[in-house]
Amino acid sequence: MARKPAAKSPSTSTPDIESILKEKRVLKPPAEFAKKAHIRSFAEHKKISKAAQRNPQAYWARAAKELDWFKSWKKVLDWKPPFAKWFVGGKINISHNCLDRHLEGWRRNKAAILWEGEPGDRRTYTYQELHREVCKFANVLKESGVKKGDRVAVYMPMIPELPIALLACARIGAVHSVVFGGFSADALRDRINDAKAKVLITSDGGWRRGTAVPLKQMADDAMKGTPTITRALVVKRIGEPVHMQEGRDYWWHEAMEDASAVCPPEKLDSEHPLFILYTSGSTGKPKGVLHTTGGYLTHVAHTARLIFDLKDEDTFWCTADIGWVTGHSYVVYGLLANGATSVMYEGAPNHPANDRFWDIIERHRVTILYTAPTAIRTFMKWGDEWPNKHDLSSLRLLGTVGEPINPEAWMWYHRVIGKKRCPIVDTWWQTETGGILITPLPGAVPAKPGSCTLPFPGIDADVVTKDGKSVPPNAGGFLVLKRPWPGMLRTIYGDDARYKQQYWSEIPGMYFAGDGARRDKDGYFWVLGRIDDVMNVAGHRLSTMEIESALVSHPDVAEAAVVGRPDDMKGTAIAAFVTLEGSSKASENLKKVLRDHVAKEIGPIAKPDEIRFTDSLPKTRSGKIMRRLLRDIASGKATVGDTTTLEDYSILARLRESDEV
Ligand code: ATP
Ligand code: MG
Repeated sequence: MARKPAAKSPSTSTPDIESILKEKRVLKPPAEFAKKAHIRSFAEHKKISKAAQRNPQAYWARAAKELDWFKSWKKVLDWKPPFAKWFVGGKINISHNCLDRHLEGWRRNKAAILWEGEPGDRRTYTYQELHREVCKFANVLKESGVKKGDRVAVYMPMIPELPIALLACARIGAVHSVVFGGFSADALRDRINDAKAKVLITSDGGWRRGTAVPLKQMADDAMKGTPTITRALVVKRIGEPVHMQEGRDYWWHEAMEDASAVCPPEKLDSEHPLFILYTSGSTGKPKGVLHTTGGYLTHVAHTARLIFDLKDEDTFWCTADIGWVTGHSYVVYGLLANGATSVMYEGAPNHPANDRFWDIIERHRVTILYTAPTAIRTFMKWGDEWPNKHDLSSLRLLGTVGEPINPEAWMWYHRVIGKKRCPIVDTWWQTETGGILITPLPGAVPAKPGSCTLPFPGIDADVVTKDGKSVPPNAGGFLVLKRPWPGMLRTIYGDDARYKQQYWSEIPGMYFAGDGARRDKDGYFWVLGRIDDVMNVAGHRLSTMEIESALVSHPDVAEAAVVGRPDDMKGTAIAAFVTLEGSSKASENLKKVLRDHVAKEIGPIAKPDEIRFTDSLPKTRSGKIMRRLLRDIASGKATVGDTTTLEDYSILARLRESDEV
C-alpha cells in the first residue's frame, strides 16, 4: 500500500497551533462519476461558491424554493446577533415535505425506508405506506394529549417506528427529543426533565449483538423521576414481558389499531421548533441544542442532494443511529425530503459476523455509504477479508463524519471499500450546525485524504486567531463561522445566556465551534480536533490528531489517542494510548519503534514520551474518543467531570491498571 509521504519540512510556527502533518496526495473526482454528477467540475463549484459568497441569502432562498411552502416568507434572514430567524413569515410542514409531496407522482410506490433488523427480519416502507403510518401515529399523539409545541421524548432502537414517530411529531408541530437507545436510565431522565417532555415513546427492547437491550426497563427507571411524563407509548419489538403501568403505558400497536389515517399537516411557522438534541458529550456535559423548521429543512435537503449527489435511483445508507444528529439529518429529514431511499439497520456491525455491513450493501445494492472514521478504523482492524468476501460494486460514493479521518483510514476506505472508483466526501459539521458545512462536492472538488476540503456554497468558514484575525495558509487556529446559515442551532433549549456564552463569546462576532483547524494554500480545511485537546509541548502548540495519524500510519497500530500530561521539564509530555492490529504483539521494542516512527513521520518534537498499549479506548456512545478522560489517566488523577456519555466504564479501570505495559 502507498505510504503517506513523510513530512520533513519544518513546521509552520504560529501563535495558535502548529500544524506538522503534511499530506500531499490529491485525488481528482473520477471522470465517470463527474460526468453524471449534479455539480460536474471544480470550475462549476467555484462559480456557484463565488455567487453564493456574494449573495448568500439569494443562494439559500433558491434552495428553500425547492421545498413546498404553504405560504412564502417575507424575509430570508432576520439576524440580530447571535439570534437568527430564517424565512421569516413562511409557513411550512416538514412531514408534508418528506411524505405528502411525493404521493402526487410515481414516487408514491418508491421505497422510502429499507429496514433490516439485527436478527435478519426486514421491512420496506413505500412513501405511501410511510405516510399512512405517520398520519395514524400523529393521531395517536394527539389522543395522548400532545399539542403543538409540546415536547416528546423518544428512546428507541433503530426500528421504522423511530422515524415514524419523528415525522408524526413534525406533522403536528410537537418538538421531539431523541435520546440514543444506548444511554442509561439516568441520562434519559435528565434529558426528559431538561426538555420537560410530556410523552415518552419507547419499546420493550432492541437487539444488539444478539442480546435484547431492555429499553422499557430503563425507561421505567427513568420515569420514576420525570414528573412531566403523562404517557408512554411502547413498541413491541422483542416480545419479552415488560411492566406496563396502568393509565400511563400503552402499546403502540394497540393505539394504532383504531387511529384514523387522516391527519392534515399543521401549517407551521418557519421558525417553529422541530427538535431538541443533546450533543455527544465528548468534551463535557451535553447541551440541549434547539433546531427549527424551515431553515433546517432547507439546509439538510439541499446539502443531501448536492453532497451525496442524490439521484432517484440511489440506495443511500447512513449508518449513524437516529439518536445522533447525523441520523436526524441524513437518515430521516434530508433524505426523505429528496424522495430518496434510505437504508436503516438496527444492530451491530459484527453480528452475526464481521461482514454484516458488507452483506447489507451487497444484498440491498447500496450505492452511497455514509459512516464514521471510528467504524472505518474498526473495519481495518478486522481485516480486508471481510469486505473482500462481498460484491461491493453497487457503491458509487462514500462519506465520513464525526471525527477527523486520518489519511491512512481514508486510503483504506478508498481502496478496499470504494475500489478506487468511488469519491469520498469527508463532511465536517456538528449537532449545532444542523447540517454539513465543510465538504467536497463529489463530482467537482479534488479530495486530499484527511481534509474535509472546502466550505459548502453560502458558508463563510475561516481559521482565525483568538482575536478573530485570519491566520496565514498552513497555520493552525480556531475554526469559526462568520455568518449565519439556515441549519444553525437557534439556542440551547431554555438557556439563551449559555448559547451566547458557549458559541458566540470566545471570538468576538463569530460562531466558534470548539475545533481547531488549518487551511492550506489551496484554501482546504484540515480539522485538527478540539481546541481543548491542543498540547503545549516545550513551547510548541501541537494537535493530538496529527500525532495520532502518524501512529496509525504504522502497520501494527489500529487506533491511537494522544493526550498531554504535566511534565516538569517540558511543561507537557506526550502520552499515547495505542491499540494494536489483530496480529501484532505489544512489546518494549514496539514502543521504541512507534516513537521513532512518529519522529520520522512528523518530527522529533512530536515523539511521544510515553506509549501505553490498551485493548480499547474510552469512547462516547457515538464512537468518539474521550481524550479528557485519558488526560486524567495519563496524569494519574481521578476522573473528574461528566462520564455519562462513556460507552464502557470498565475501560477506565483497565486503562488505569495498564499503566506502563
Ligand atoms: P460535545 O460538543 O458535547 O463535546 P461532540 O462535539 O462530540 O460533543 P457532535 O456534535 O456529535 O458532538 O460532534 C461534532 C464534532 O465532531 C465536531 O465539532 C468535530 O470535532 C467532530 N467532527 C465531525 N465531523 C468531522 C469531520 N469530518 N472532520 C473532523 N472532525 C469532525
Ligand atoms: Mg461539540
